[in-house]
Amino acid sequence: MSEPILQVEHLNRYFGALHATRDVSFTVPQGQIRAIIGPNGAGKSTLMDLITNRTTPTSGKVVFQGMDITGMAPHKIVHKGMTKCFQISKLFNALTVYENVQIARIEMNRKTFSLLPVRDTYLKAEVVECLRLVGLQDKMNEVAAYLSYGDQRRLDIAIALAMDPKLLILDEPAAGVAREEAYTLMQLIRDLAAKRDMTILFIEHDMDIVFNYADEISVLRDGALIASGTPEEIKNNAYVQEAYLGGGVS
Ligand code: ADP
Ligand code: MG
Repeated sequence: MSEPILQVEHLNRYFGALHATRDVSFTVPQGQIRAIIGPNGAGKSTLMDLITNRTTPTSGKVVFQGMDITGMAPHKIVHKGMTKCFQISKLFNALTVYENVQIARIEMNRKTFSLLPVRDTYLKAEVVECLRLVGLQDKMNEVAAYLSYGDQRRLDIAIALAMDPKLLILDEPAAGVAREEAYTLMQLIRDLAAKRDMTILFIEHDMDIVFNYADEISVLRDGALIASGTPEEIKNNAYVQEAYLGGGVS
């Protein structure tokens, strides 16, 4: 068994009276592709925000690569090697594809704050490599706003790669793209995970994608983790059958 990269221990989060995360504990082994599923409002996004400390847990602990990171500033967590993929709205729409990745890379390399203008060749090799990995090298001078939706998702991933993540967290990476492109994106993520030695934790709605690309699946319901298992095991889970697969299918 490989070392766990992530240990989530008894996480709880209340929003007022709403118990959005209920005593959630799970472990992600190094190199795994782990899916989190659950209906709308089950607490998937909240759980990811707790892990990356964009939301503070009411109680519980997050251990990343053996270090307790509960309460650590989100940018420090990124520097430790845990990156949540930027959502499309976070792209700098007026900048080029290249500049979007360059900014992320500079942020990662920054030792001290500087107002000096950045030369466009700064960190160029690393930026181009991130773009090459997602297949955007030929579009690096295009303005981000004019990319197709699928290419914007690729750019999201390139920006995340610029942070050198060991654990990459994605909230519905293939949402809003056509089925074929969704599969291509998931295959890209899987190949990158192998190539860059990354562990993947992703939220996904589409069960075909989950069953095809996850090594292990965890199921959230009303804020609680009700099951974890292989795709085969989760396919046969009574709740999953009823909630996702129309019930009665074996
Ligand atoms: P999912 O991603 O599974 O759809 P969320 O984690 O977004 O679910 O939401 C879980 C529950 O927590 C929902 O009932 C949602 O309305 C509530 N919630 C999420 N964020 C907040 C917030 N910042 N303030 C109040 N309630 C929230
Ligand atoms: Mg969500």
